[in-house]
Amino acid sequence: MLKEVVEFYAPRELEEAHGLLLKHYPHAQLVGGGLDLTWRERKEARYLIGLDHLPLKFIKSEEGTLEVGAMVTIRELLENEALENVAPDSLKPALKAIATPLLRGVITVGGSLARAYPWSDLPALFLGLESKIGIFDGKYRVFELREFYEGDFREVLRRALITKVLIPQSKGRYFSYRRFTRTEVDIPLLNQAVSLHFREGKIEHARIFLGARPGFPLELEEIEGLLEGKELSEGVIGEACAMLRESAPVESDFRISKEFRKHLAGVLLEENLREIKGKYESSIQA
Ligand SMILES: Cc1cc2nc3c(=O)[nH]c(=O)nc-3n(C[C@H](O)[C@H](O)[C@H](O)COP(=O)(O)OP(=O)(O)OC[C@H]3O[C@@H](n4cnc5c(N)ncnc54)[C@H](O)[C@@H]3O)c2cc1C
Repeated sequence: MLKEVVEFYAPRELEEAHGLLLKHYPHAQLVGGGLDLTWRERKEARYLIGLDHLPLKFIKSEEGTLEVGAMVTIRELLENEALENVAPDSLKPALKAIATPLLRGVITVGGSLARAYPWSDLPALFLGLESKIGIFDGKYRVFELREFYEGDFREVLRRALITKVLIPQSKGRYFSYRRFTRTEVDIPLLNQAVSLHFREGKIEHARIFLGARPGFPLELEEIEGLLEGKELSEGVIGEACAMLRESAPVESDFRISKEFRKHLAGVLLEENLREIKGKYESSIQA
């Protein structure tokens, strides 16, 4: 599978890694966890640039933001207590539901955000958490993740490295993530991330992303608009779910039909909103 590879580099500085990426363009490939090399034929990959020795394995809190280095695996993220400051009791179960324990020990944040399969979990999850992304293209730059993905990010990443993801640690955020799979270890047939911020009992701000539609995650602005300014009552949950079942931006593929995805979109929203409602109500009673 890797018979075209002529060189494997293990740079220790970002500048060196970036230089190699440019030098061997378009035949260079960065290697995070390296999972993609095991199952995808990449004839153009002749120069592999391993990222293990770069200073990209860190998790730190900086001025209200959790910064997660690109080489952090899902498992390392899961094991870090700082996660609880981002979305208490909801981010850990969400990460734990992704793939299998072995795969979670291999998949890196950078590898997942760069590969960004339409069905991938981390892009939808980090979009729902209103994250930013840090890249190095000769200079360090930070973008809103949403804007980064709206641009031609695959072309950008042919000459740049992802360095980190930046997640705001908002105290008022209530977060919930759901994914629907055929089996426990399958890729999602649909996934959905919801963040709600409350003010005086009402939803001040909502962020909802639907992924694996089967396309790339889309923000559900119409549903966000319906929720904002309202209390999260049973009636409002019912209204939002009915609207999404009607209008969900989903399609059929060889896995499931459009109709089933529409139905699922409503089910995931109901589960996400109910989880948030439960957490919000217990927090104001405490
Ligand atoms: C059996 C199996 C099951 C899976 N299940 C799931 C699942 O349930 N949910 C899910 O979300 N995903 C799943 N995946 C997909 C997996 O998340 C992706 O393959 C992911 O890219 C693997 O991460 P990695 O660190 O190994 O990436 P790598 O294979 O190292 O890299 C993937 C791509 O990203 C680029 N890249 C890596 N790091 C960087 C960086 N720092 N900056 C810029 N570019 C970079 C590489 O050049 C390459 O093009 C599964 C994959 C397999 C094989």
